[in-house]
Amino acid sequence: MNKNENNNNGFFNKNPILIFAVFAIVIVVLFRSFSDSEFGSDMISANTQTKNLAYSDFKDYIKKGQISQVAIAETTIKAVGTDYSVYMIKRVNDPTLVPVLEEAKVQYTAFSERNWLSDLLFSWVLPVFIFFGIWMFLASRMQKNMGGGLLGVGSAKKLINSEKPKVTFADVAGVEEAKEEVEEIVDYLKDPDKYLRLGAKIPKGILLVGPPGTGKTLLARAVAGEANVPFFSMSASSFIEMFVGVGASRVRDLFENAKKESPAIVFIDEIDAIGKSRNSGPMGGNDEREQTLNQLLSEMDGFDADKAPVIVIAATNRPEILDAALLRPGRFDRQVLVDKPDFKGRIDILKVHMKDVKISDNVDLQEIGRLTTGLAGADLQNVINEAALLAGRKSKKVVEQSDLIEAVERSIAGLEKKSRRVNKKEKRIVTYHESGHALIAELTKGAKRVSKVSVVPRGLAALGYTLNTPEENKFMMQKHELIAEVDVLLGGRAAEEVFIKEISTGASNDLERATDIIKSMVSIYGMSDVAGLMVLEKQRNNFLGGQTIKDYSDKMAEKVDEFVKTMLSQRYEAVLDTLRAYSGAIENMVLALYDEETIDGAKVREIIRNYEEANGLETRLVEHEEDDDIKKQLEK
Ligand code: ADP
Ligand code: ZN
Repeated sequence: MNKNENNNNGFFNKNPILIFAVFAIVIVVLFRSFSDSEFGSDMISANTQTKNLAYSDFKDYIKKGQISQVAIAETTIKAVGTDYSVYMIKRVNDPTLVPVLEEAKVQYTAFSERNWLSDLLFSWVLPVFIFFGIWMFLASRMQKNMGGGLLGVGSAKKLINSEKPKVTFADVAGVEEAKEEVEEIVDYLKDPDKYLRLGAKIPKGILLVGPPGTGKTLLARAVAGEANVPFFSMSASSFIEMFVGVGASRVRDLFENAKKESPAIVFIDEIDAIGKSRNSGPMGGNDEREQTLNQLLSEMDGFDADKAPVIVIAATNRPEILDAALLRPGRFDRQVLVDKPDFKGRIDILKVHMKDVKISDNVDLQEIGRLTTGLAGADLQNVINEAALLAGRKSKKVVEQSDLIEAVERSIAGLEKKSRRVNKKEKRIVTYHESGHALIAELTKGAKRVSKVSVVPRGLAALGYTLNTPEENKFMMQKHELIAEVDVLLGGRAAEEVFIKEISTGASNDLERATDIIKSMVSIYGMSDVAGLMVLEKQRNNFLGGQTIKDYSDKMAEKVDEFVKTMLSQRYEAVLDTLRAYSGAIENMVLALYDEETIDGAKVREIIRNYEEANGLETRLVEHEEDDDIKKQLEK
């Protein structure tokens, strides 16, 4: 928010028009005096006072020898006397003038005068125009840069979007609880009197909280669509302008417009841009932001729901930084969580967006749902769109499963770069690394099942990947599941050590995550002897991945580090043992990956089972239950 900080200081920012006006006048005056001195000739000094003289007197003066220099123009004559006074004479058509001048030995010359029109044009109009042109140019540039600008100071007309959305609740999927929470608002907007007669207090403000792309804007529009009321929207970051007071006046405009057409919805996206807690910034307060926030609060406090029902819906993905004043009763006192969709939610969202494209009858949406853990609604919409583009490129009539899968992979791991040639050495490393992850995942109780292993390069960051299907709706993990995840993460690096006999840099992210998991077992979940039940780090906001606050002694920190290190090396040893015991299975996976570049979870399990049978080993393959879970969820 750099641009906000500019607002703190400066006369210039607060009084742009005044400054520009002063500047304009200075330029014009300079221009005028410049052109005045040019007017006439060099023999007439600009600061001598000019006296008017009748033509007849002028001729008398010449004859008496009182004139030393004369300059003749079309309609005027200027003359300088021997006493240096300057005379202005209206010219008379008099052919005898020159002979008289000659006789009196007066130095004379001609000059071209401008008439009053060109005088006006050159000295006033032109500079003003030039200046105005420059001003307009600068203003339009500023406007582009910051979505507002000089000429639009105080006016938000262009920035306020007003529409009557056609979107309904049917277009919003996977956020059923949030939908239920806002349903009441729809009913109220449809018939406010029904509630007002009873004296019911309807919330004025609703705060939608959730990660980006989960459908907060969509949900707000759907409320307006369902209630068939106008929807006024604005992003809070566009309230904030270069000039103090602009934001506040925009807020005023926004509410004025909405009240005129009430009942209505006012939607403010990214409310955190103005609603930041007043002492959260490193620089302390910010005039413009605070003014804007205060205006918003007073609008919300001020409007009388009985007369003009306007409901304000705001969205944020950072509720923890909001000023408490915003959350007080009568303001955004109702908060609705719009979270990332779960398995069933993802399938519903995919279905919503599949309506717009031609899709093959035999696509397996369950598989797509499983592969898209962690994606938000906007990502899923993107997957469908991308799949349609892929199918189009291949001139297909309908979108097929393979297109969908490819689209998912693209959005998960970046664009597939078939053209990028991985060298042989790299490919060998990646293949063993990924096989290591996959094997450990299948043999460790509590680990997530492998759904796919791939060594097709995707972008630069990920050379290969193993997709694990986490169990759905899992808000809680047991200790053995956390350890299992650590094992799986270590599997890649361990495989490099066992089979390549050298370690690459490719595992650094894995190690970082493994370290984090063990650390949080100690410091957050109370799962170690080091700190016992003592919580060392508080999570401020866990559903949105907020920061943690550390609160422990250096001595404790040392112990924690020691624990993490020991635990990591213990787990690593165990993983190495497993890999050595199953080296044949790894080799077979590697062969399959060389052939096909991608193998699915079933193939991984088949390879392991065959290896175990061939070597008379009792199976260590873990039963995974989530197949049943998913079936159950779908039946619901
Ligand atoms: P947010 O405001 O939470 O950042 P948006 O509402 O702007 O997210 O979502 C962008 C687009 O993604 C929507 O217009 C819609 O097409 C799609 N989308 C997001 N969430 C959902 C959802 N829950 N159901 C259907 N479509 C969704
Ligand atoms: Zn890895």
